Amino acid sequence: MAVDSCLSSPVCPPVNEKFAKALQFIEEMTGNTDTVQEKVLAEILARNADTEYLQRFHLGGATDRDTFKSKIPVVTYEDLQPEIQRIANGDRSPILCSHPISEFLTSSGTSAGERKLMPTIREEMDRRQLLYSLLMPVMSLYVPGLDKGKGLYFLFVKAETKTPGGLVARPVLTSYYKSDHFKTRPYDPYNVYTSPDEAILCSDSFQSMYTQMLCGLLMREEVLRVGAVFASGLLRAIRFLQLNWRQLAHDISTGSLNPKITDPSIQERMAKTLKPNPDLAEFITKECEGENWERIIPRIWPNTMYLDVIVTGAMAQYITLLDFYSGGLPQASCTMYASSECYFGLNLKPMTKPSEVSYTIMPNMGYFEFIPHDPANPVQLSRDAPPQLVDLADVEVGKEYELVVTTYSGLCRYRVGDILRVTEFHNSAPQFKFIRRKNVLLSIDADKTDESELQKAVENASVLLREFNTTVVEYTSYADTKTIPGHYVIYWELLVKDPAHAPTGEVLAQCCFAMEESMNSVYRQSRVADNSVGPLEIRVVRNGTFEELMDYAISRGASINQYKAPRCVSFTPIVELLDARVLSAHFSPAAPNWTPERRV
Ligand code: AMP
Repeated sequence: MAVDSCLSSPVCPPVNEKFAKALQFIEEMTGNTDTVQEKVLAEILARNADTEYLQRFHLGGATDRDTFKSKIPVVTYEDLQPEIQRIANGDRSPILCSHPISEFLTSSGTSAGERKLMPTIREEMDRRQLLYSLLMPVMSLYVPGLDKGKGLYFLFVKAETKTPGGLVARPVLTSYYKSDHFKTRPYDPYNVYTSPDEAILCSDSFQSMYTQMLCGLLMREEVLRVGAVFASGLLRAIRFLQLNWRQLAHDISTGSLNPKITDPSIQERMAKTLKPNPDLAEFITKECEGENWERIIPRIWPNTMYLDVIVTGAMAQYITLLDFYSGGLPQASCTMYASSECYFGLNLKPMTKPSEVSYTIMPNMGYFEFIPHDPANPVQLSRDAPPQLVDLADVEVGKEYELVVTTYSGLCRYRVGDILRVTEFHNSAPQFKFIRRKNVLLSIDADKTDESELQKAVENASVLLREFNTTVVEYTSYADTKTIPGHYVIYWELLVKDPAHAPTGEVLAQCCFAMEESMNSVYRQSRVADNSVGPLEIRVVRNGTFEELMDYAISRGASINQYKAPRCVSFTPIVELLDARVLSAHFSPAAPNWTPERRV
């Protein structure tokens, strides 16, 4: 087992006692992975022994791993949906967890088109806070002086709703930003943001982004790091600057706030900070008015030492563009690996290249098990013969696994849906490269669309072609992120039986809209509220294109008997082949319907 020494031989020593303690905590947890895991499981099982869920499996009060593994099934969200629905409807009895459910966290993973609802308890916020508190101690081992300036972070809250039983349902970050943990956080020189809380907490995405960008520009010399949660979010901010720099420069020049900013708390806050600064306005105009946006981040924020965004998983598609705008600044993925179900861990070597980022799961956050993942030989999960899941301390370097969690909030042996590969160990804790989320075909931002959702959307849209005696013979898709925001492209090969009565461009644009209307709520929210996904596009390709695609695949070694048209493409030569055969392109003419309420 290779023990890596990223914390024991850092670039800089710990800067203060608080950071030294945090680093010591990481060493203690990762040095005792298996013991901590055993303790966490025993704690969870002891406190939840009387829940309806655990009682159902007759644990008889046992808190040991063997009994747990032999009696508790491995489950998915769909298995738990009846229990979750009862909690959402207002049943306050201890169904999954002995502690009262404080709210629901709405995952970007969906079930039947709606965000999954994850019940959580108040104390989980402390656990998340604990993980946040480890980020800067690790970062400052590599980058000195982060207390001498500010972070320009684009952070947003999203819409929230109430379940029929009256519990709030919202994304985990919205829950965090609205909590006292965040709003009344004590001053910490290592965590000073340029964005005022009033802007972060404003639910109107334009007003929020505008104010955050304005403050970032006003404090440009003080900015030491620039970030967002996801790489796509930071690129959206750059795009926002491209579209809005004139008005921003005008505000800075005159010291008056854009009248579109109507949120009273933002107005009040900005009245205190915004003063006429014609020199700064002139500088911004000079940098932004030309065509050249290369290195725009260090040009405007010259003291930036690194970008802080998630560039792993689906976000890897944005690395090149980030390099372009940042002039190759380090893309530090010191952001965590976390989910609505549980916060898992952090990157102990934040300055490594994006392609080499690994996360160390902190053993105190929950109880973690792993299903060996071999696509050629998938593990069959059956209740009668429970599979042997591997414990956190026992995974092997080089192997891939699917993550299963048991949490303090009451999820037991829950399949998160992430595939991870073990890269090395830090002390006795494995470090994982995020490989992918299972079943995700298309993703631009927080949206995740799987194959069956795409299939359903194509089916729904092709209903509009019936009166033109036209059918979709083959289709595939592509996440086009060449423009920001990115958008879904769907390639259609059509069989038009009566060319004199072929579907018009308008009909095909309506097909785009019908597809968007069929997408899950995270996609529609990204289109409507967040503007993080652009209008869906259908590109009609000429007849025979998909046969050429097959010929190409076979020439590269695919088996002719087993060949199936891929439902999503990303390999450049294939995208080029498809694009060279496009007859017409059509865009969705309107945003789909979305409200925070769940569709029944
Ligand atoms: P949500 O439940 O909406 O918070 O989404 C959680 C999911 O986002 C995880 O299960 C992962 O699939 C993905 N995710 C979270 N953190 C990372 C990361 N650092 N790198 C790649 N994917 C991540």
